[in-house]
Amino acid sequence: MTEVSLQQVVKRYGQLEVVHAIDLEIRHSEFVVLVGPSGCGKSTTLRMIAGLEEISDGTIKIGDKVVNKLPPRDRNISMVFQNYALYPHMSVRENLGFGLKIAKHPESEINKRVEEAAEILGLGMLMDRLPAELSGGQRQRVAMGRAIVRNPDVFLFDEPLSNLDAKLRVQMRTEIKKLHKRVNNTIVYVTHDQVEAMTLADRIVIMRDGHIEQVGSPLKVFDHPNNTFVASFIGSPP
Ligand code: ADP
Ligand code: MG
Repeated sequence: MTEVSLQQVVKRYGQLEVVHAIDLEIRHSEFVVLVGPSGCGKSTTLRMIAGLEEISDGTIKIGDKVVNKLPPRDRNISMVFQNYALYPHMSVRENLGFGLKIAKHPESEINKRVEEAAEILGLGMLMDRLPAELSGGQRQRVAMGRAIVRNPDVFLFDEPLSNLDAKLRVQMRTEIKKLHKRVNNTIVYVTHDQVEAMTLADRIVIMRDGHIEQVGSPLKVFDHPNNTFVASFIGSPP
C-alpha cells in the first residue's frame, strides 16, 4: 500500500524553481532516505510533505487523502528536525507529553504513551531531568520520543543526526533502525550523508538540483548507478 505519494510536485520561490515536477511513491512502513548534495531540494521536499511549505504545483497524498491544502497537524505525520527544540524549562517527561496535552488527550492516555515511548527509546532513567542536563544523544532521543508519542503513520526526519559527533551518529543510526523495526511506521529521512543513507534506507532517493536522479535499494543503486553523478555521489566503483 502506498503511504506517501508525490505526483509532479513543484516548488517555486518567486521566479526560482527549486523542485522540478518530482514523482515519488513511498510504501507503508518503508524507510526511504532522500539524499543528495546541499541545496538540491531535500528539505524543501520533506517540508512540502509535512505541510510546512505550500506546493506550487502537483499533488501530495498521504494514505489515500490528497493533503495539498491540509495544515501539518491534519496530516498524520511527525517531524524531527536537526535543531531539535526541546522546551528548556520542562522535564523529559513533560517534553514527551506536551503535544498530547495540547491536543487535550486524557491524562491516563498521555502517561501510557509517554511511558511506551520512554521504554522504546531507553529514556526511563532520564524522565525527571531538564534538557540542559542531557547529552546531545539523549536530547536527540527525547526529540524522537516526542514524535513517537503522537503515533503518526509517517515520520519525517530532516538531518536529525547532523549536530552529533561521529561516534554518536553511528550509535543513533542503530537506534533509529531499531525504532523503525519496533514501530514499523513509514519513515522519510533526509540526509546529505551517503553512508547514513546507505545504512538506514530500504530505498534511497538520490536528488540533484531539484530533480530525482535515481530511486532504488542501496545495493541496487550502488551496483547499477543510472549515471556518473549517482556513481560518484554514492561512491560506486568505476
Ligand atoms: P537541501 O535540504 O537539499 O540542502 P533545500 O531544500 O533547503 O536543500 O533548498 C533547495 C533550494 O531552495 C536551495 O537552492 C535553497 O537556497 C532554496 N531555498 C530554500 N528555501 C528557500 C526560501 N525560503 N526562499 C528562497 N529559496 C529557498
Ligand atoms: Mg536541508
